[in-house]
Amino acid sequence: MSMSTTLWRLPLDKEKHHIPIGEIHVIPNRCKECGFCIEFCPKGVLGTSENFNEKGYHYPEVINDECINCGLCESICPEFAIYTTLKSQKELTEEDIHNIVNGHNGYTGHNCCNGHSHNNGKNGKNGNGNNGKK
Ligand code: SF4
Ligand code: SF4
Repeated sequence: MSMSTTLWRLPLDKEKHHIPIGEIHVIPNRCKECGFCIEFCPKGVLGTSENFNEKGYHYPEVINDECINCGLCESICPEFAIYTTLKSQKELTEEDIHNIVNGHNGYTGHNCCNGHSHNNGKNGKNGNGNNGKK
């Protein structure tokens, strides 16, 4: 009989790793209410606004502060109506590692924990988010 055990701990170089915190920018009048950004955000950050834009569509609104600046909403939006920028970064904790390893809280175990990939280069190599975009 085999037993599988998932071991986890903070990496020895944990100070080099951070969790990005994103700031979301919605351009309401571009939105066509397809709902992709709302449906596929891994952190459930977006909901549908009760307000209409000038075309008569409901656009997304931010409903929690869990954005990890993964860039998926920006990549998936067919109308270029939403994007995110890096607001800040938080230190990696044991709870974060546990969530990443176990796929909790929207973490898939492969993204967004070290500021180096899967976000269209937004964080850059040094994780400072400077891609020239405001
Ligand atoms: S950047 Fe990622 S976590 Fe943030 S709102 Fe967009 S899809 Fe969600
Ligand atoms: S993906 Fe773009 S067009 Fe679709 S609901 Fe989100 S902001 Fe609107």
